[in-house]
Amino acid sequence: MIRKLLSTVVVGILASASTQAADTELNLYTARHYQTDEALYANFTKATGIQINRIEGKEDALLERIKNEGANSPADVFITVDASRLAKADELGVFVPVKSTVLDERIPANLKSDTWYAFSTRARVIVYNKVDVDPKLVQNYEDLARPELKGKVCTRSGSHPYNLSLGAALIQHDGAEATEKWAKGVVDNFARTPKGGDTDQIRAVAAGECGVAIANSYYVARLINSDKPADQEVMKAVGVIWPNQGTWGTHVNVSGGGMLKHAPNKEAARKFLEYLASDEAQAYFANGNNEWPVVPSVQVTNAALDSLGDFRMDDLNVGTLSQTTAEAQKIFDRAGYR
Ligand code: FE
Repeated sequence: MIRKLLSTVVVGILASASTQAADTELNLYTARHYQTDEALYANFTKATGIQINRIEGKEDALLERIKNEGANSPADVFITVDASRLAKADELGVFVPVKSTVLDERIPANLKSDTWYAFSTRARVIVYNKVDVDPKLVQNYEDLARPELKGKVCTRSGSHPYNLSLGAALIQHDGAEATEKWAKGVVDNFARTPKGGDTDQIRAVAAGECGVAIANSYYVARLINSDKPADQEVMKAVGVIWPNQGTWGTHVNVSGGGMLKHAPNKEAARKFLEYLASDEAQAYFANGNNEWPVVPSVQVTNAALDSLGDFRMDDLNVGTLSQTTAEAQKIFDRAGYR
């Protein structure tokens, strides 16, 4: 995987973090809520003495709340998933740049913007029914518009950030015109009107209701790891493809976050973001949701993901996806991809 080829940077973090800390607490607004994140927060508090007050919620609702609270917001750090959501937060002006050599050095250039940082990556993969669809037909995202797949394609809503970010990447690689043609082709190939989440699409492919679908890698890994017999049957019936290995690489998205403009505890916020980039936190943060760390020197062994093999990821800067997300939405609207 390209990720492994990036240069290794090892930086000591938190070495002198605890003593001069002026801030004693951190207010974290997060759209992530995994068991493993609990240990993460506890370790941060142990290392820095900074208490974390956590507000959990849905991505869009949290952002709305930060916007509405304005200058009075107690929030110091906002963590969410999807590059287009992070970009939306950026556009709303809620973030402020962080001065940190730790973050500058540890987070690769293609996984950050001027104001936010990615802390884990996930890939958007193609899932196909082994009986119904020849995998040779679905090696690329572009293939989902092939006429041979008429009545076979399923995806969640075209308005969902995961698909909009994919559309944004397609525009940058293939151009707007080709992407619009593609979107129309995909809609023409629908087995059903988009509904449900990524896992629902995978289940529908296994059930034969759909021949092929797209889904984030961690949903696939979750089903592989599941001990429910029904989930194991699902994974027996489907094959998984890393798309576009012969062209521009598999589209990756991120979860990430940044410091908020009106953060009352900016020092604590910086320390927390730097902590998320530490070896320990990177492993926890990524593996907790079957994702990959962003810091190249941090290797995580995840049996489910490893069983799918290595892949080359798109090296497009995730921060630039936002430049074409609005265009992707317009194209999808015109194509009837709702
Ligand atoms: Fe998700």
